[in-house]
Amino acid sequence: MELLKQKIRDEGIVLGEQVLKVDSFLNHQIDPKLMFAIGEHLAALFAAAGVTKVLTIESSGIAPAVMAAMKLDVPLIFARKRKSLTLQDDLYTHKVYSFTKQEESEVSVARKFVQADDVFLVIDDFLANGEAALGMARIVEQAGAKVAGIGIVIEKSFQPGRKRLIELGYRVESLARIASLSNGQVAFVE
Ligand code: 5GP
Repeated sequence: MELLKQKIRDEGIVLGEQVLKVDSFLNHQIDPKLMFAIGEHLAALFAAAGVTKVLTIESSGIAPAVMAAMKLDVPLIFARKRKSLTLQDDLYTHKVYSFTKQEESEVSVARKFVQADDVFLVIDDFLANGEAALGMARIVEQAGAKVAGIGIVIEKSFQPGRKRLIELGYRVESLARIASLSNGQVAFVE
């Protein structure tokens, strides 16, 4: 998606060889028009997949995912990273190792929002090792529901997430694929 790649070139901040900071349009401040365009792209890619719900993880997945859900005309559910007083029982949970926080957390979704006949589009802001996306897919499968595929805004293709998810049989669609962050430069996959 050229618009997204240009935004990454213009505003992305490379932190070392592994991490890209995009807090001016996705991870802190949000660019609503760009999110709308991202949602349209993801929805178009999965238009024929029979999606009945979108699933993402709080908090940075929510903006692109809500736009995709609106376009697909289905509800969006976001997995919680921490249990709260109002979210304690009747949960599907999965342990996820966080790439950015370097710690394990248990992500959860209330059982009432995942039915066995649902077909889920899983969306996340970044794909690194695939932990977050796989955790969400496993939650869907715990309920006996289906994963139509995984939609990613920014994939770091030099990390193992994509390969891992594809080997497990998931369809992965990423709107921007980064080949390298070496020398402070963003290089995209051709
Ligand atoms: P994974 O679970 O695939 O290892 O990592 C994806 C998750 O870690 C995403 O939900 C995202 O929040 C975070 N993440 C991974 N790499 C980056 C990065 O380079 N930049 C930012 N901003 N977040 C990242």
